[in-house]
Amino acid sequence: MQYTHHPGFVLWFTGLSGAGKTTISQALEAILRERGVRVERLDGDTVRQHLTKDLGFSKADRDTNIERVTFVAKLLSRNNVGVLAAFISPYRYMRDRVRTETTNFIEVYVDAPLETCIRRDVKGMYAQALAGKIENFTGINDPYEPPEKPDIHLRTDRETLEESVAKVLEYLEQRALIPVDEPSAR
Ligand code: ADP
Repeated sequence: MQYTHHPGFVLWFTGLSGAGKTTISQALEAILRERGVRVERLDGDTVRQHLTKDLGFSKADRDTNIERVTFVAKLLSRNNVGVLAAFISPYRYMRDRVRTETTNFIEVYVDAPLETCIRRDVKGMYAQALAGKIENFTGINDPYEPPEKPDIHLRTDRETLEESVAKVLEYLEQRALIPVDEPSAR
């Protein structure tokens, strides 16, 4: 498959556990690859099994986790790769730091009310956190600072996955970070 010419960017998906960061970034990855965009997906769950497996969920460890990921996102984005980064990243100042360090940083707030995330409980972790079995669980006994002015705001409790994905693609096209999809040109 032919790669298309495009600049690097970082789609930074932030939000509570279960809000939809992984689901949306996986769907986008498939579509962008199909369109010939060079992408790399960095996901909290997998990165924590490799690059940052020595880290826990204290504030200091969360900051170090994001610092290391930022370094990788910086290298990729400056070499014309589109990075899809899915991390709870609860602290505003850390997300602001990623913005200053990377190329074409786009903050995507994957927003669903805590009650919705608890109802979904994708990995059964809210039940455990609510039972007091997990320390430092974001939204339950650890803070989450929502973005004040996200570049893209997705409401996954009100939108379908397809609608959320379409919003991101439209944003990327409008900023000329990916080519406009012209099915007839394929
Ligand atoms: P996170 O990566 O933020 O922890 P996940 O993507 O693992 O969240 O889980 C989100 C869950 O919510 C999935 O089970 C997904 O199917 C569901 N879901 C329902 N509606 C949406 C939507 N509009 N966008 C994304 N996920 C959704």
